[in-house]
Amino acid sequence: ITPDPAREARIKELSRAHVLTSWSAQAAIDPLPLAGGEGAYFWDHQGRRFLDFTSQLVNVNIGYQHPRLSAAVAEAAGRLTTVAPAFAEENRARAAEAIAGLAPEGMNKVFFTNGGAEANENALRMARAHTGRHKILAAYRSYHGATAGAITLTGEPRRWGAEPGMPGVVHFWGPHLYRSEFHASTPQEEGERALAHLRHTVEAEGPQQVAAVILETVVGSNGVLVPPPGYLEGVRELCDELGILLVLDEVMCGFGRTGAWFALDHWGVRPDLVTFAKGVNSGYVPLGGVIVSDAVAATFDERPLPGGLTYSGHALATASALAAIEIMREEGVVEHAAQVGERSLGPAATALLGANPLVGDVRGLGVFWAVELVADQTSRQPASGETMRAVQAGCVRRGMWPLIVANRVHLVPPCVISHEDADRGVAILADALADAIP
Ligand code: PLP
Repeated sequence: ITPDPAREARIKELSRAHVLTSWSAQAAIDPLPLAGGEGAYFWDHQGRRFLDFTSQLVNVNIGYQHPRLSAAVAEAAGRLTTVAPAFAEENRARAAEAIAGLAPEGMNKVFFTNGGAEANENALRMARAHTGRHKILAAYRSYHGATAGAITLTGEPRRWGAEPGMPGVVHFWGPHLYRSEFHASTPQEEGERALAHLRHTVEAEGPQQVAAVILETVVGSNGVLVPPPGYLEGVRELCDELGILLVLDEVMCGFGRTGAWFALDHWGVRPDLVTFAKGVNSGYVPLGGVIVSDAVAATFDERPLPGGLTYSGHALATASALAAIEIMREEGVVEHAAQVGERSLGPAATALLGANPLVGDVRGLGVFWAVELVADQTSRQPASGETMRAVQAGCVRRGMWPLIVANRVHLVPPCVISHEDADRGVAILADALADAIP
């Protein structure tokens, strides 16, 4: 790319004047205008190329500008760009079949949305309609989206600005050994105590009032928290015992991110509803949805489905989902993500522990890792904003774009990243960390 500073300046100026950016005090941000991308790299208008360890918002699983995926969108655009939900449409029908085909047995229908928040919103409504119950239990340390219901489910500070939010949502603590709420010292103990806490919470709320428990299968933006063995299975048993639906939010962890099609595949858990978005089509066109079990779907055989969207199953979005799934299957993208996690990204990230005093914890699987930085190994006090900014700047200067969330560096490159680039990205992080020791 030929450097074009004037163009870059103009884009910045227009953005500053007219674009409101998510979750940010507008005066404090200086977004970098992007010019293009390919595979696991993107570049700016100055001609600087970055190895992408963010996948944008952890969604470009297939990498930038996959020619077949872009062509599928163009092909659909050239045929019939938009079809209302009341009509049937080939890509929509085939994408729903393909997505349901990846889900556990007995989940055969899909309700399409434009993204993850709407998916969770509709999952809630279906759960309430199906059970005739009202309460929803959601975890602290979770993110479920920014619409009214989804932000109420969210168990972190982004919810605060939207409160009081939707009635009927109760929060509980999920497992997280490094920052255990349960004084646990092993994953086993953490899982068992978290399950007991969930049971107590349900009992205190009145099990007959609880429609659903919603969980991110692997918690994403709140720290890549992989559930300990037995936890998800235990939640499923508890839900079965008390007639509660289990909703798994696979918006961030689905479609290859963890080295499996769905993260739930690692534990063989069968939820009642699965929500997805992001990786389903790598974000080439906005798309999300809910995969619905046969039992829940049957509720809406005779009763109207209480939800709808002009763009439910948009032709361009579903064409891209169908193509993305075909490409991922044919090119072995999910298997590759698993191997990168096992052989390069995972071992390289884990080796940071002990090698640098800032690194308190490293966890993840597939191409879904977090490196948690602390000011002090014993107290585990989170590293300062200043340290995090230094790490970010150190990575960017060396040509790697990291995803910094609170006191963590999330290592979430596209699933198609090469082993060499995964190693190189972590080596860059190691150098940036070494420079950032206060
Ligand atoms: N659920 C999870 C787990 C997410 O990570 C996100 C977004 O980051 C959402 C839901 C919301 O998705 P969207 O931003 O597409 O509404």
